[in-house]
Amino acid sequence: MKLTVPALLCVFLAPAVLAQQPPDQPAVTVRGQTYTPRSILARNMGSEEDQTTAFPPHKVIGNVYYVGTRTLSSFLVTTPEGHVLINSTWERNVRTIEKSVAQLGFRFADVRVLLGTHAHGDHQEGDALVKELTGAQVMAMREDVPALEAIRPGGKSHPIDRTLSDGAQVVLGGTTLVAHLTAGHTRGCTTWTMRAQEGGRAYDVVFACSYRAPGTVTPPIEQEFSRTFTLLRTLPCDVPLGDHPAQYNLAAKYARVKAGAPNPFVDAANCWVEAEIQEAMLRAQLQQQ
Ligand SMILES: [Zn+2]
Repeated sequence: MKLTVPALLCVFLAPAVLAQQPPDQPAVTVRGQTYTPRSILARNMGSEEDQTTAFPPHKVIGNVYYVGTRTLSSFLVTTPEGHVLINSTWERNVRTIEKSVAQLGFRFADVRVLLGTHAHGDHQEGDALVKELTGAQVMAMREDVPALEAIRPGGKSHPIDRTLSDGAQVVLGGTTLVAHLTAGHTRGCTTWTMRAQEGGRAYDVVFACSYRAPGTVTPPIEQEFSRTFTLLRTLPCDVPLGDHPAQYNLAAKYARVKAGAPNPFVDAANCWVEAEIQEAMLRAQLQQQ
């Protein structure tokens, strides 16, 4: 049997790589909070249990619902013609997401379109299983396709039914989602925007990609991030969401959900806090490099 070098790397290095912690410096302080690469990753991922335990499914705003786990976001956008799911997360979470969708009174089988924020396993490993269970069309930003095709849980090939370019629109049942290329964390990192209606007004919803820089920032990645951080601030935003709940303080906001009270997810003042943190960290890392 011939083992290729990448196969050997997977066998012998994967556990070591997974256990590897990012460094605890540089530290940056944004709006009174201090962050390091290690603290950001810990905040995003939590424990294995956090990654795989459902957060109570809930309405975010209008036809947007949260169906993910404590630390890995999955959003359901419902329409009269079927639903859009954003982020399948780990494959082992797909049945949990299915249950959360059912708890909200919707049918998982009615998911027609599956989108993602970026080609990392914790956000899109479950794509093939979601497609198998729902028949959804899987759509992905062109620049993330090679990395997505490398995500093959149990040897399944990664489904991609439509390749998107920056600015592409996904339209279903009266809802339009717009794909914005916000590269850096991955080549095709995608920030999705849409308008939601609630209480007789429209709200701009932003499903943010991760903007966390890799350990080593090369000049092309630096260029991608500088375009991304400039572009983000031009997007209209009332409701900031993220592919990890900590990026938009889900737990604190959810605790404030109360019938008759203002919707805590409407938070225009904090739309770009996460981008501010990640941009400060990128600058600090570049200085250190
Ligand atoms: Zn990632």
